[in-house]
Amino acid sequence: MPYQTEEIAAIVTESMSQISERGCILCGGVTHEVLSGVEDNRFGVPGTYAVHECAACGLEQIDPRPRRDDLKKLYESYYNFGGQRGTVYGRLREKFFASWLYRVWLVLDGDGSFHSRKGSGTLLDIGCNEGRGLQIYERNGFLPEGLELNAKAAGVAREAGFRVYETDLEDFRPTVPYDVVVLSNVLEHSLDPKRMLHDVAGILKPGGQVWISCPNNQSWLRTVFGHAWINWHVPFHIVHFSTSTLRSLLESTGFAGIEIRQVTPALWVASSIIARLFARRGRATRQLRNPLLVAALLILGRTVLSPLLYIGNRSGRGDCLLATAQLPCNNPFQKRVA
Ligand SMILES: [Zn+2]
Repeated sequence: MPYQTEEIAAIVTESMSQISERGCILCGGVTHEVLSGVEDNRFGVPGTYAVHECAACGLEQIDPRPRRDDLKKLYESYYNFGGQRGTVYGRLREKFFASWLYRVWLVLDGDGSFHSRKGSGTLLDIGCNEGRGLQIYERNGFLPEGLELNAKAAGVAREAGFRVYETDLEDFRPTVPYDVVVLSNVLEHSLDPKRMLHDVAGILKPGGQVWISCPNNQSWLRTVFGHAWINWHVPFHIVHFSTSTLRSLLESTGFAGIEIRQVTPALWVASSIIARLFARRGRATRQLRNPLLVAALLILGRTVLSPLLYIGNRSGRGDCLLATAQLPCNNPFQKRVA
């Protein structure tokens, strides 16, 4: 049952009064405000947030930080437009992802979800949603499984034939460790990203890899769009990484061989443009799911704006970070697997 707006407002207000003076989410250091007055521009979640930067480790994070229970309620009430299915936008999107056109698109647009990587071995997609990625990873040679807390989405992925666990990562104990763990636009949602990477390390084989994609807080689109930048995504994006804060976090959790590069998905550019034009306080921005508008802006992004996106990526100011890292063969964290 969705929560009423008043209940959500009460949750947000209470969270603000209780938690705003906490230190850095990673290191406990002192944080200072770098941006205020950020509001949700996708689903109409009430509340205003600030972005703080840690003076010690440089990580950006939202303030106030929602509590775990409150966040769960917010996901249930709002996320992905209340999990609506069967829309024209949804059907067209699924067709697109299943077509050869998507493979061409990945070459042109950059691959923000590791969908063009071929390989072998076991792979866990954390936050696999309805299993679209699982199908692609399987097609590319992997033996994929998923972790998904949303029971409805997990059910859809299972119907397609995949093994999907509905467990918190911290409680997850696979019988056999994985070759690859994918965190595609997941780590920035975590209230404890260090713990998340420790938990990932605990379920990887020695020499196994983690693949991470997340927004880049150094993106030039953040500068251009300001508060409308689609990747603020309050209150769901808790932390905002740069190349250097992501690298430090990976190193501090035992990973090596770290490679980080950047892409700028045209969909993210289109989303920031739509949010800038249409978002209104307290209302879901339905235009984010308007197929014609989105398609037109995707074409704009990949034609007229393409040189800018390329220069952004090459100069360290692309919109999306793509990191791969490997556990050393003497994995110091491998103690979780039965
Ligand atoms: Zn810090």
